[in-house]
Amino acid sequence: MKPSIKSLLLDELIEELWQLNEPPYRANQIATWIYRKRVRSFDSMSDLPRPLRQKLKTKFAYTDLEIVRILGGKDATRKFLFRLSDGNLIESVLIPASPALYGSRSDRRTICVSTQVGCAYGCKFCASGLDGWKRNLSADEIVDQIIAVEQEAGERLDNIVFMGMGEPLANYENLLRAISILNAPWGIGIGARHITVSTSGLVPQIRKLADQPLQIRLAVSLHGATDAVRSQIMPINRKYNVEALFDACRYYNSRKKQRITFEYILIENVNDSVDQAHALAKRARDLEAKVNLIPYNTVDGLEWTRPPRPQQERFLAVLRNAGVTATLRREKGHNIAAACGQLRLQTERALTADFSPTTAGPIRAA
Ligand code: SAH
Ligand code: SF4
Repeated sequence: MKPSIKSLLLDELIEELWQLNEPPYRANQIATWIYRKRVRSFDSMSDLPRPLRQKLKTKFAYTDLEIVRILGGKDATRKFLFRLSDGNLIESVLIPASPALYGSRSDRRTICVSTQVGCAYGCKFCASGLDGWKRNLSADEIVDQIIAVEQEAGERLDNIVFMGMGEPLANYENLLRAISILNAPWGIGIGARHITVSTSGLVPQIRKLADQPLQIRLAVSLHGATDAVRSQIMPINRKYNVEALFDACRYYNSRKKQRITFEYILIENVNDSVDQAHALAKRARDLEAKVNLIPYNTVDGLEWTRPPRPQQERFLAVLRNAGVTATLRREKGHNIAAACGQLRLQTERALTADFSPTTAGPIRAA
């Protein structure tokens, strides 16, 4: 299979052109066509000589994502179902104007992006891992999610969160390559501070991410402040326990300016006790981390439920009283992590059921 032109960094493109006896400035011309003018084929690159376009076509694929379905209406959270070239399905979520999340201002348009088909980590509450892991997404498949959603929405996005299907740090090389393209001035041009990577806690990769120069934001899916609670719902905690995870987070903090965010899904009678709240508060203070509390979103086939409202508020109050910056997602339309955590199930449901844009909200109210 030919490599996608959208998986190349500018330096690599220059190198490829050099091998074709073409001057380096052609690389900038090509990048401008792809990422600024957003053409859909080599043929549209009208200021390139025809023989060069031909050569590019024989060497590279001009990839695109096929939109299968769009759920949700304009000005609301919208879900995009994409079919990859091998038939696998992935999904991205567009949140039009979320309240200040992950460093975004309230007027920012955020996209939640997938990095793998399925997920190998098998967290007990999550729909993405239910059928296991299929494969990593390539860098161009990651970049193309942003391009396709911007194209369809008719507007530019300013915030990217890697909270869709899959574990981003388990696809480290392609993720970093995609982020380079998304961040580059010759590429999509989104600032690193507006790019958040969410991880279930892959310790070595957190350290690796800390050592690379971009000021990417890190969100850690904690969901339990002690090993006893966390191991019960996240198998990865048996490999990298809370202490090892926090060591890696501390290291991340020492290398980056942005504060870490802890994602914490509230699951009734699992991790929602006042004791857990105190333990979490201590952990968060220790790292000066922010906490995002997310009431659990019901997944078909899983037995978990979210605690009643007063219990959620009590949990939040413990954190705030301890001086921790914490938010509790209230509006279902903004429950982006949940929306992304349920990609696979909802995708399959959307394909088998007769969805219409008016009835198919991207998030099921629990
Ligand atoms: N694998 C990475 C990123 C994808 S999951 C990670 O785990 O961080 C993105 C977020 O959605 C995570 O915080 C995850 O815990 C959350 N999530 C998964 N299932 C959910 C559910 N049923 N309700 C609410 N949030 C959920
Ligand atoms: Fe994978 Fe994240 Fe879901 Fe865990 S929460 S199964 S790591 S996608």
